[in-house]
Amino acid sequence: MIGNSNYYTGQAYPLKKIAQLGHSHGCKVGFDLAHGAGNLQLNIHDSGADFAVWCTYKYLNGGPGSLGGCFVHERHANNPELKRFTGWWGHNKEKRFNMRDDFDAISGAEGWQVSNPSILSMAPIRASLDLFDAAGMDNLRKKAVKLTAYTELLLRELGEDKIRIITPQNPDERGCQLSVLVKNANRTVHDKLTEAGVICDWRHPGVIRIAPAPIYNSFEDVFHFVERLKIILKD
Ligand SMILES: *Cc1c(COP(=O)(O)O)cnc(C)c1O
Repeated sequence: MIGNSNYYTGQAYPLKKIAQLGHSHGCKVGFDLAHGAGNLQLNIHDSGADFAVWCTYKYLNGGPGSLGGCFVHERHANNPELKRFTGWWGHNKEKRFNMRDDFDAISGAEGWQVSNPSILSMAPIRASLDLFDAAGMDNLRKKAVKLTAYTELLLRELGEDKIRIITPQNPDERGCQLSVLVKNANRTVHDKLTEAGVICDWRHPGVIRIAPAPIYNSFEDVFHFVERLKIILKD
């Protein structure tokens, strides 16, 4: 099991290649898509992965504590031999209340339901996914590539003596996120950015993770972030 993009460096990995390599060694392959869902076009079915899991409170805007998601590859869906975590919501609806102790799985994703999910927690996810559908993942990704490249361009102007971007430069090897190693800095850099209204985060020993999200961040947002960082680093 491996993250599809690394939480620290923002490096995105080739899922299909990893799945093939794992399978060639007899492994089951699963991906942690916490930093990929709503960020990259994952084509998770085509990757051949056996399973994947993700949270919905990062790029997908589900809000703190919102439901997670999981994917199980089709080839496992109707395999009665597979030991799986089951619950009565995945049982054949016709016979659900017959209260027998065998399990008759509904085919497809429904068969994997354990119980009934929190509707109040799913409502914001649905609203958010409607926006993703309206915008289109292709369009969002196109804007994200430009937005992150623009962020990178402005950051590089700060100079190698001040910062170093540890995320790969190749757009195919990253999503929205840039991880910026700030030299001779401490957490106050992050605190001052927060005070200025920039939502980013700080990772030991000196990395700012910044991820302009195409669905609501603008090029102007990015410009103001870098201007503010410039001032803070000068201090
Ligand atoms: C945020 C995150 C998760 C999600 O964890 P939850 O338990 O759903 O909050 C998983 N993996 C990584 C690498 C993350 O950054």
